[in-house]
Amino acid sequence: MKAVRFHAHGGSEVLRYEDAPDPVLRPGDVLVRVRACALNHLDLWNRRGVVKLPLPHISGADVAGDIAVSSDPEMPVGRRVMLQPGLSCGHCDACVAGRDNFCARYDVLGSQSDGGYAELVRAPRQNLIPLPDAIGFTEAAAFPLTFLTAWHMLITRAGLRAGDDVLVLAAGSGVGQAAIQIARFHGARVFATAGTDEKLARARELGASEVINHHTQDVPAEIRRLTSNRGVDIVVEHVGEATWERSVKCLTRGGRLVTCGATTGYKASIDLRFLFSRQYTLIGTYMGAKGELLRAAQLFFAGHLLPAVDRTFPLQDAAAAQTHLEQSHQFGKVVLEV
Ligand SMILES: [Zn+2]
Repeated sequence: MKAVRFHAHGGSEVLRYEDAPDPVLRPGDVLVRVRACALNHLDLWNRRGVVKLPLPHISGADVAGDIAVSSDPEMPVGRRVMLQPGLSCGHCDACVAGRDNFCARYDVLGSQSDGGYAELVRAPRQNLIPLPDAIGFTEAAAFPLTFLTAWHMLITRAGLRAGDDVLVLAAGSGVGQAAIQIARFHGARVFATAGTDEKLARARELGASEVINHHTQDVPAEIRRLTSNRGVDIVVEHVGEATWERSVKCLTRGGRLVTCGATTGYKASIDLRFLFSRQYTLIGTYMGAKGELLRAAQLFFAGHLLPAVDRTFPLQDAAAAQTHLEQSHQFGKVVLEV
């Protein structure tokens, strides 16, 4: 098959479009012909070598395609699917309790195993989600990882309730555009930040009630103004070092800061006097459980959640696609079409 691989860690120049062996199936696996694969920041971390990976390596966690080889009559060859990006052991206490993203062996497709920057990808049967005919491969590939992450953050971990005020950072990011839609659907009032007027307008279209330009406006001051000095119930963080202190300042008493990333750096500090006296909760999250993605997918298929697709690239231009993502000019997902 054709695939985009890297044989050494580094910049986007290490990505090579080349021949690679077809994936070898294990019992319970199906082979999926990839039609679209969305990019994630995880792909950049993996390429740069933040975590040790088997080399050469094929990235790609967000896949939509059709089944090429299957021994399961309920998932026949030709069936259109998108893939759950989470891989886990399937039999530990976390897995059987439906909390597979807490499995000690949890992994994301395209990290320790090969992913979807290829014509074919191997996936466990339980990772297949059948697609309705009306859902295209490109939008399907743009859905799983960020909507799963945002769902787990807001609904499961931060306990979002109707009427909550939610601040979503970086509306144009994959997690940002998903979080705006999920929070709005569940009855929250959503505030969103972005760095350009165009992105702020898109954030409003997705359901943000109020938008803040983080380059030209003081985010905590704007939040105080917009909430009559109260602050927000939930902050959706994933930017990290550059925004952390200001994010904490946006919380109301008893507020929850939930984070799934640190794109701008890992170092953060917090004034413990405010943590206890204002009774903040700091929540770390990573991915989400399979059942959560199935629930979110129902809303996607019914038209309530729509992944924003910024731009598509052909598979062989994966290096240009990753560079585009690294420049942070996008609103929504960057997708490879195969
Ligand atoms: Zn497990």
